[in-house]
Amino acid sequence: MEKKIRVLIAKPGLDGHDRGALIIAQALRDQGMEVIYTGLRQSAAQIAQAAIQEDVDVIGLSSLSGAHKSLFPKVIEHLRKLNAEDIPVIGGGVIPYEDIPFLEEQGIQKVFTPGTPTQLIGDYIKELVGEEKQVIEPPKKISHIGIAVSSIEAVLPFYRDVLGLSLQKTEQVESEGVNAAFFHIGETSIELLEPLSEESPIYRFIEKRGEGIHHIALEVSNLTERLRKYKQREIPLINEEVKKGANGAGIAFLHPKAANGVLYELIEHGEEEQ
Ligand code: ZN
Repeated sequence: MEKKIRVLIAKPGLDGHDRGALIIAQALRDQGMEVIYTGLRQSAAQIAQAAIQEDVDVIGLSSLSGAHKSLFPKVIEHLRKLNAEDIPVIGGGVIPYEDIPFLEEQGIQKVFTPGTPTQLIGDYIKELVGEEKQVIEPPKKISHIGIAVSSIEAVLPFYRDVLGLSLQKTEQVESEGVNAAFFHIGETSIELLEPLSEESPIYRFIEKRGEGIHHIALEVSNLTERLRKYKQREIPLINEEVKKGANGAGIAFLHPKAANGVLYELIEHGEEEQ
């Protein structure tokens, strides 16, 4: 039988509530992991000891008391003293997002904020311990910003003369029903989108919301895998499969519902045109 992932769930400090920790523990067990729960009010030293004794693959710290900024780094410190700093530590509970940069700087691998689906935490742990390949890598850059215009010609003077950009190229993208015009700015570019007909999504966008910023495109790798993962996690998608965009790149749009009203395009360039 394959070795199960072993997780230590621990509650450092004084807070006396462990409902959340118990829910996570059960959810991870349901996902096939072996979970050891230390119980309430453990010291950082006890937690580090327990992690070594139990030979766990990952430590999950939970804190509701507001003392996470001192308690979580203390656990890391004790692991270091015991030469066990290779055991990754993740955290959750009631943690204001403002504290995330500090905690990650202190060596906490990842902090989950309230409301994170337990499935996602389980997926993350599997990737962290190397059982599953990491699929959701950070996007590499903003590939372009798409701007909906009624007429490319009408806005050219602004982009060329007011901003001083040069027009790199134009392209008719049949799949989107648009003419596109590209201006490079450093690593990224601006893409003007003009509808080819009243059937074009850009036409409908302009009718509804007027000309303006239409979408932000992010350069990613692993687009096919990523979409599969998003589908699994029920992230609202416009395209569930990769389709061909401008330059022959693979593209897919997330539904604006996924990002509070912002339309994101994911784009993956083939080796040769990157
Ligand atoms: Zn685009």
